[in-house]
Amino acid sequence: MTKYIFVTGGVTSSLGKGIIAASLAKLLQARGFRTTIQKFDPYINVDPGTLNPYEHGECYVTEDGAETDLDLGHYERFLNTYTSQANNVTTGRIYQYVINKEREGAFLGKTVQVIPHITDEIKRRMTLLGKDNKYDIIITELGGTVGDIESLPYIEAVRQMKWEMGDENALVVHLTLIPYLRAAKELKTKPTQHSVKMMSEHGLNPDILVCRTEEPLYKDLKRKIALFCNVTQDAVIEALDADTIYGVPLEMMSERLDEICLQKMNMPAGKEPDLNKWKEFLNKLRYPKSKVTIGLIGKYVELQDAYKSILEAFIHAGAINECKVEIRNIHSEYLTPENAREKLQNLDAILVAPGFGHRGIEGKIDAIRYARENKIPFFGICLGMQMACVEFARNVLGMANAHSTEMNPDTHNAVISMMEEQKNITQMGGTMRLGAYDCELKSGSKAAGIYGSTRISERHRHRYEFNNEYLDAFEKAGMVPVGTNPATGLVEVVEIPEHPFYVGVQFHPEYKSTVENPHPLFVAFVKAAKEAQEKRNGHNHPIFQDSVAEG
Ligand code: GLN
Repeated sequence: MTKYIFVTGGVTSSLGKGIIAASLAKLLQARGFRTTIQKFDPYINVDPGTLNPYEHGECYVTEDGAETDLDLGHYERFLNTYTSQANNVTTGRIYQYVINKEREGAFLGKTVQVIPHITDEIKRRMTLLGKDNKYDIIITELGGTVGDIESLPYIEAVRQMKWEMGDENALVVHLTLIPYLRAAKELKTKPTQHSVKMMSEHGLNPDILVCRTEEPLYKDLKRKIALFCNVTQDAVIEALDADTIYGVPLEMMSERLDEICLQKMNMPAGKEPDLNKWKEFLNKLRYPKSKVTIGLIGKYVELQDAYKSILEAFIHAGAINECKVEIRNIHSEYLTPENAREKLQNLDAILVAPGFGHRGIEGKIDAIRYARENKIPFFGICLGMQMACVEFARNVLGMANAHSTEMNPDTHNAVISMMEEQKNITQMGGTMRLGAYDCELKSGSKAAGIYGSTRISERHRHRYEFNNEYLDAFEKAGMVPVGTNPATGLVEVVEIPEHPFYVGVQFHPEYKSTVENPHPLFVAFVKAAKEAQEKRNGHNHPIFQDSVAEG
């Protein structure tokens, strides 16, 4: 029988529930249990695809084309397994389903209510992945904070599941905060007590408390937390602030979070977790030998979470290159032909980010021109690739007003235009070209060399595409479409073979980079940055500090 672990959050948001859930899943997986993670989000958007990155950070995309919460990215990066549409459910999706059923008459004249209809649908979705015995353990992260009005139906659904399945089959791990008051020089347990009390008012008691803290929890304090929050003493887990999120699984292992969960679920401990590969990665991450600086050109750069998967992919690629990747965020809105040199000249490589809409677009084009003309390693992702084509059309092919029809519907040189199948779509949510598609790479191309293969599959999220009327003109002038979709002929990868590293991709490689499988394009790009630096300075920027993980 599949066992369920629910991860809830208390006191405040941003405690890192996703990372704790992913770390626990990693440890259980490393013990040999078939584990997956899902996230239930209490907002009314049907999925985060329609949310601005300023609202909710990056929208993550799965193989099957679901637009999901960015925590699913952490799950995949930690577990090295794919998630799917079923792994992310929102209140909007639940209500949409229940309301559609009501319209079909499926409730036979009954009054449709939060309890039982919404909570039943939550429970049905929570157990969906457990249906065909694919998993031993399913971890469910509940978005939001206990005490939020919109979280109530989820708390009630979990309460019912615990009652129906028994505590040993449905465990609650509550992530909470133990603040340190500097003036009093004391760790405070009261906010945690209150959040547990609030949960118990709704009939749900946590089995395990994971306590985020800046200072170690001493033994008496753990006892006090256990006593007042009604959990066993071994179930108070310390989660000290970590230097990198990738250190958290090991931290949780030394606190025995996985073992205590298994004990409480009456499960055997399984084999000792084999985390050797993980530790090797961490070691390389913490003790790099050199450093490169890469410019990330985008319009959401002030927001840490907006380009989450790209930043994580750089961490994976940096570690394997034994090189710290320092990201310099450059706001494309403030980049002009006049200041491009000043802002970009000290970079070892330039990445132009994905995005939508007109704002900041000319700055991206200026950055691309600078990278192309000055032979700085360049990597363009989705909109970044599209703007690379626009830049090339304008400045090499002499089409002064070339553009994407997304930004200029009236351009005479629509080198990027809307895909045919997108033209009649009027609904915004879930209607882009989404998820994994095959791509055929020309043998002998840089991309084929990097992947070590001519047939690849990558994830997409876009409406516009390279306009194939311009294929010949581009190729003759030196920008080669080296990757195309075998079924549709859509251009997926462009390169400038003349340039030391100039690759634009219509897809999003960042979604598939994991700790165990750093993405080859990011690995090659970081390597190219190192080489460019060495060429410029005669050597690589050395690093002598003891530990320089993310920071
Ligand atoms: N706005 C572009 C499109 O829709 C690029 C999307 C992206 O960068 N993800 O095609």
